[in-house]
Amino acid sequence: MRQMPRFQRIIRPAKHFFLLSIALLGFCLFPAMAQESPIDDTDPELQQFILANTEFSVVHELVHLLIDEIGFPVLGREEDLADHLAIMLLLTRDGNDALPQTMIDKLQAIIDAWRVEWTIIEQDQMEIAYSDPHSLEIQRLYDLSCLTYGRDPDHLKDFAIANEIPVDRAELCPEDFQKAEKGLKFLQNTFRNEKSDSQLKLIFDRTDTPKQATYKNWLTNASILPAFITEIDSQYQFPQEVKIIFRSCGQANAYWEPADKEIVVCYGLMDRFVHLARFRQEYAIDPREWALGLAKAKSAFD
Ligand SMILES: [Zn+2]
Repeated sequence: MRQMPRFQRIIRPAKHFFLLSIALLGFCLFPAMAQESPIDDTDPELQQFILANTEFSVVHELVHLLIDEIGFPVLGREEDLADHLAIMLLLTRDGNDALPQTMIDKLQAIIDAWRVEWTIIEQDQMEIAYSDPHSLEIQRLYDLSCLTYGRDPDHLKDFAIANEIPVDRAELCPEDFQKAEKGLKFLQNTFRNEKSDSQLKLIFDRTDTPKQATYKNWLTNASILPAFITEIDSQYQFPQEVKIIFRSCGQANAYWEPADKEIVVCYGLMDRFVHLARFRQEYAIDPREWALGLAKAKSAFD
């Protein structure tokens, strides 16, 4: 959606906001400060977390692009459709084969980011953005968990338990996935054009800090994004050139700008994911392991 912030909400000063404010203020006022807090570019977990969440953000924006430029119909809230189709594009990328572990890990990283966001909102007692065009973080994580589980319920029972999908919801997930898959196939059969010209251009603007250079390096060499964008480009006839630009823009955001025919991904969004990664173990991984451990202990006892 046009210039719609990804993290729009009224925030009361509290510890997480304070940490992020210092980081962003430092970047805006003293760009050198940002250079003084490099990230560990050899940390595979951090790389995987940043890439997974950046990829999801870009695929979500690509759905907005498909709506505006190709004509995908919107039969509900556009932001929910963008989330839903982005998830389905990732879940069906490997055809009918079993979901590869790398893709499960990718989806788990996205779920964990929503969980950390939601935990921060609760802990800092932020105002909940009920009027936002996006679903709440907690709803986005359950939708993502449910569709993932629904893709292969026989092999993803532990995933469903660890991500605390309630039993009543979990029962619906396989059917939810099948309906979403049918819907996606309908859109693909209706709107794909095999004779498509190459119109999507992936561009990395100047990087100002070592951190941004690391993001660019990861996205170029270790991400599914370049191949994914090429696939979408070859499948649909876009009426004109569209740029997907990574750049500094002083905010943690990614957005589709129809007037300029650009998807802009701010490096600040990746800074936000680095911030979330600091809390991942405590707010997402530990609770998941606890939930799974508890369920296993209970079933052993039963
Ligand atoms: Zn959106």
